[in-house]
Amino acid sequence: MKLAGSMAEARAMAQGRVGLVPTMGFFHEGHLSLMERSASECDRTMVTLYVNPLQFEDPADLARYPVDHERDLELAAAAGVDVMVIPDPAEMFLEAPLTGVSVAGIGDRLEGAYRPGHMDGVATAVTKLFAGLQPDRAYFGRKDAQQLAMVSRLVHDLGFPTEVVGCPLVREADGLALSSRNVLLGAYREEARALSRGLLEAARLFEDGERSAAAVEGAVRNALPPGALDYAEACTAAAMEPVDRLEGEVVLAAAARFGAVRIIDNVRFTVDGRGAAADRGVWLDRPSVLYDADPAGADPAGGR
Ligand code: AMP
Repeated sequence: MKLAGSMAEARAMAQGRVGLVPTMGFFHEGHLSLMERSASECDRTMVTLYVNPLQFEDPADLARYPVDHERDLELAAAAGVDVMVIPDPAEMFLEAPLTGVSVAGIGDRLEGAYRPGHMDGVATAVTKLFAGLQPDRAYFGRKDAQQLAMVSRLVHDLGFPTEVVGCPLVREADGLALSSRNVLLGAYREEARALSRGLLEAARLFEDGERSAAAVEGAVRNALPPGALDYAEACTAAAMEPVDRLEGEVVLAAAARFGAVRIIDNVRFTVDGRGAAADRGVWLDRPSVLYDADPAGADPAGGR
């Protein structure tokens, strides 16, 4: 695996079909599954590791975001990554950009409403990476369903010659959706399982024939301790528009706060001519590599 310190350097290492996996680092099996998928489908797999300040509306959240480059490099190399791009902050957003990208509608709701500026920050960073690295394919996890919908639309609207590939959501053995932030949950971990429990209960109701959005949203709400839930909303998967009935491809997206940590999760429902299916993602059958890391070893100030 080669290291690139700028997008130009990375582009010079491109060959054949290039797959890109944009990340903020502190890897877990969710990230690694995207890298492995890219490595199996592309000639060159590039991973960007950049904690994008534009998408943090809360400076404290940015400051405690876990960072451990050494560990990330080892994991990425083992996953078949060819080029690890760690762009110089000066090349990215050390200075706030005057140009921004926002995807109307998709980027305004849910995460966009609860984290002002967050979705625009993601859209702007992804656009910059696509422009600078010119990947043939870009791999995104369904864990961030709204991000996936937004990036797919952005590529369509702006005409990037990049195919956006959505990949399965990966869960820890106890059901919690994998997130680099899970290492920060500490004593709240048990409580935080309520979010995936509620979503899995919603999936069970759906499989029993429930088609009311309010009913499955209620299952998530009921699973959570008072005050923890930001939202639980059934939306179209492509445009993230709220629905009343579970028909076509629907994402039941939810976000909740446990202590200082905010987590998001979702389940996906498909109802079409062939029948109905709930997609809960895939489960690890062992503890995540996240917990091999020494959270104290990850600079709590994030090196910033
Ligand atoms: P992040 O580093 O959190 O910005 O995530 C980088 C990429 O990994 C995004 O495309 C995420 O959707 C994806 N990702 C994060 N967590 C998971 C997960 N549990 N399962 C699948 N993909 C994930």
